[in-house]
Amino acid sequence: MIAKVVFPLPIDISLDYRVPKDLEKDIVKWSRIKAPFRNSQLLGYVTGFSKTSHIKELKSIISLLDRQPILGEDFVQLAGYVAENYFCSLGEALDLMLPKLIRQGRKLESVSLNTSGQASITYPRMLRDRQVSSKKEKGEVLLLRDTVNRRWQVFEEKIKAAINEGRGIIILNPEINSCLAAKQWIEEKAKKEALLVHSSNSGKQELENWVRVKNGDINIVVGTSMAVFAPVANLGLIIIDEEDNPVYKQEQSPFYNAKDIARFRAEQSKADLILASPAPSLESYYSVEKRGFKLIEPDPKEKAGIFVQIVDLSEERYKQKRGNIILSNILERNISEAINNKKKIMLFLNRVGFSTYAKCAGCGFIIKCGRCSKNLIFAYARNELICRSCNFKSAVPEICPQCNLSYIKYLGLGTEKLESEAHRLFPSARILRYDRLKHDINLDKEQFDVLITTQIILKDLDKLKNIDLLGVVSLDSSLNRLDFRAAEKTFQVMSRLLYIVKEKAIIQTAMPEHYLIKPLMRNDYALFYKEELNQRKELRFPPFSFLLLVTLRGRLQEKVGLASEDLFNYLKDKNKDKKLEIYNPALAFPLKLRDNFRYNILLKSRSKKTLIQFANKYVKNFKKSGIIITVDMDPL
Ligand SMILES: [Zn+2]
Ligand SMILES: [Zn+2]
Repeated sequence: MIAKVVFPLPIDISLDYRVPKDLEKDIVKWSRIKAPFRNSQLLGYVTGFSKTSHIKELKSIISLLDRQPILGEDFVQLAGYVAENYFCSLGEALDLMLPKLIRQGRKLESVSLNTSGQASITYPRMLRDRQVSSKKEKGEVLLLRDTVNRRWQVFEEKIKAAINEGRGIIILNPEINSCLAAKQWIEEKAKKEALLVHSSNSGKQELENWVRVKNGDINIVVGTSMAVFAPVANLGLIIIDEEDNPVYKQEQSPFYNAKDIARFRAEQSKADLILASPAPSLESYYSVEKRGFKLIEPDPKEKAGIFVQIVDLSEERYKQKRGNIILSNILERNISEAINNKKKIMLFLNRVGFSTYAKCAGCGFIIKCGRCSKNLIFAYARNELICRSCNFKSAVPEICPQCNLSYIKYLGLGTEKLESEAHRLFPSARILRYDRLKHDINLDKEQFDVLITTQIILKDLDKLKNIDLLGVVSLDSSLNRLDFRAAEKTFQVMSRLLYIVKEKAIIQTAMPEHYLIKPLMRNDYALFYKEELNQRKELRFPPFSFLLLVTLRGRLQEKVGLASEDLFNYLKDKNKDKKLEIYNPALAFPLKLRDNFRYNILLKSRSKKTLIQFANKYVKNFKKSGIIITVDMDPL
């Protein structure tokens, strides 16, 4: 008897192994085994059997870990989907869905569930078969654009319906606190137990959770991205809250998007899928027209009644005859008045540190991170230069490290400088700064008149119910990013901030004519969506095309550069019929990340299928020693 085995390695094919006589009666398809591979023993998954093999000297399986399949057919299908769409092997995809201890070869008989008062797990219960018992033909996809409180009204209805039908539920939220709140709601209101699943669960906890869900002891799971793989049986509802949050997209290979996994699972089990956000991603909103997603949004008449004022920074610079303006006269006056009237103010600036870069006054040299090639920021209180990407820290140099002659100037506005400016202008106010360099703050308890903060505040907005005045110190750093999604991301952040403001918002920008401004002032997502869609259409960017990013990385820049040229020429040769667009290799930004140099090749097509087929056929099997190649479909 020959078993076909896949390993969690970047190898696309299954390998043949002889099954020892004593294991023949127990081994099944999708059981885990240990087998010799090169000079070591690896854990693999059995994908099938045959009587013969064309390999002459077959090695034998060393041990058998499961006498029943470790995953059901639905998950095997899902693994196939992941492997094909995110360019990994079937073995790697299977690994992605299983708890760490299962991947490491822990036998399931040894699991005990004493913490929850359950008896030890035995196989027959563990892997009983389950059928989808939906009466529906298929589930619906609902896009819900609204505030958190009103979103929950819809969630509640859907959750209750799923519970009444006896079907399983998965709820995803990027923030643990929001997950906890959801779990609490379900347990108090729906009187059902919900399991919290997130990446900081310990190995043992993760395994216990997985077994309880797989066993059907619990069928409601709340968690962060990875909870999308929870083996919930008879799935009836998946909720993805804050659906525009980029955390749903993995930053490492395989670069899967939890939203796509959720759609696949929803279709598989005829479950309903709810995508919710105050400002949905453009792709999701576009799917309302193109893919029949059902849309629920607030009545336009119910728009928030706050006043949004735009301050043109270039005009202000001209009026004040100064190049650098931190707070315009208008914003300064409004803050003063608000302080006098005992109101609460939030100043938003998405740049930490005192200054955002350090530059030699003589030779113009800019101090960069040795590992990432990013500009180092200057943190005044810590008296350090810091890298925002990798947290590299260095002492502040006395003289320029390049020319040894001149002194260093600190330029660019960060929250620390804004804080010192605020102290100077409003000496009597209680000023609180909350950002990545100063985050040990309990917003529930702190007293302040002026809160200075960055994007870090997005996860704590529920703690800030009483902001009267919002000052956006600069919209431009986020709008100016080299990213075709810059406007969309800026709008999403601003929408969230505007939702918590009670009276007035003042936004400073040197680009008052930008198409995002009018929709922002009116809090009109549909208008923004229309404008943004026009831009994307003109540039043929998603959703009017699909992108696939190939990244090559390695320790030696020259080698990576040459390899990217080789790959580019090879791909160009395979694309003679011009089915897709292939862009010249470009330096990634930042070029150097954690000691690796990176080059990108971007592929673009109107058809996702074309891209995936092309990459599976040509990119995936392109190998160069010392170079790691990753493929990211729908990069964010
Ligand atoms: Zn210098
Ligand atoms: Zn760095």
